[in-house]
Amino acid sequence: MKASSSPRCMICDSPLASPIMTAYNTHGRHVLSRETFPVFFCEGCGTYQINIKQDEEYYTKYYNSLDYYNQENRSRILSFLSTIFSKISFWLKMHSLPLKKHGFFRWLDVGAGDGSFLQKLSPKRFQPFGVEISQIGYEEIKKKHIPCFHGDFLSLDFGQTSFDIISFWHVLEHCCSPKKYLKKACELLGEGGVLIVALPWAESLGFAIGKKGWFHLDSPRHVFWPTKKTMEVLIQDLPLSQVKGFSSWWEYPLDLWWSLKEVPFFFKWFLRLLYPIVKIGDRETMIFVFKKTTSNKGGSNG
Ligand SMILES: [Zn+2]
Repeated sequence: MKASSSPRCMICDSPLASPIMTAYNTHGRHVLSRETFPVFFCEGCGTYQINIKQDEEYYTKYYNSLDYYNQENRSRILSFLSTIFSKISFWLKMHSLPLKKHGFFRWLDVGAGDGSFLQKLSPKRFQPFGVEISQIGYEEIKKKHIPCFHGDFLSLDFGQTSFDIISFWHVLEHCCSPKKYLKKACELLGEGGVLIVALPWAESLGFAIGKKGWFHLDSPRHVFWPTKKTMEVLIQDLPLSQVKGFSSWWEYPLDLWWSLKEVPFFFKWFLRLLYPIVKIGDRETMIFVFKKTTSNKGGSNG
C-alpha cells in the first residue's frame, strides 16, 4: 500500500509535482479516519489524484469497513423516501441520456453494485448485464435474475459478446487505470455503441471551496478527480466521440451543502442561504455520453 517515491500520473504518466493538499479518509460528509493522503495535480492532463497501490491490503482496509449493501437498519419512512428518490433519479437520468427511442439494446453495467440500476431498465427495450467484483453484490444481482459477470472487468473474458450500451456509474474514479477500462469497453461495444461515464467533477464549487471537506473526495476509495482536460486525454486515442456531457445535479442534492462544512462561518452560511441558486449553477458530478466511432480517432468532441 506504500506510495512510490517519485509519483507519476495514472492517466498521462507525467511526473507529479508536490502535493497541492492532503485529504483524509472520508466518505460523503463523514471523516472515517484522520489518516492523510497527499493529493497531486497533474499539469499534463489536468487531473487531481492520490498515489496509492490498489493491492489486497488496500481493498481490505478501505472497502471492507464500508457496508455498501446493508440498508436493513433504515426506518420504514426512510426506506420509502429512498425508493421514491431513486425512482425519480432513474427517470431523470434516463430522460437526460441521448439514447435511441426505438429498438432493443444490450446494456452492460460495469460495477453494477446490487443491480438496482439494471433492475429498473424496461425489459421491453433493454437486456441487462452486470459486471461486479464484490461477492455480496454479485449474489444480489443473481437474486434479481440478471446475468452477471463476476470479477474485475479488465480480467474478464467476454468471448465474442458485444454490447450496445456500456455504463460506468461512479466506478472509474475508483480505478488507478481508467484508460484501460475505457479501452476494454470500446472493444466490447458494437458499431455506434454508447458509452456512459458518471464521475465526480473537480471543476466544482464543492472542491474549489470545500477542499478536503469536499463531499465527493471519498479518498482513498476515489483515486482521481477529473476535469475537462482529463476527459479529453482519457479518450484521445480511443474510437469515441463525445455526444453529451451534463451535470447530474439531482443525484446528490446536498453534496455542496456538506462540502461547505469546514468553510469559514459567514461564507458558509451565505452560500447555504442561497443554496438552490448556487447548486443549480454548480457541477459537482458529471455524466458523459460517448459514441463509438468507426475511425481510430475520436472525431469532434462537441
Ligand atoms: Zn496526467
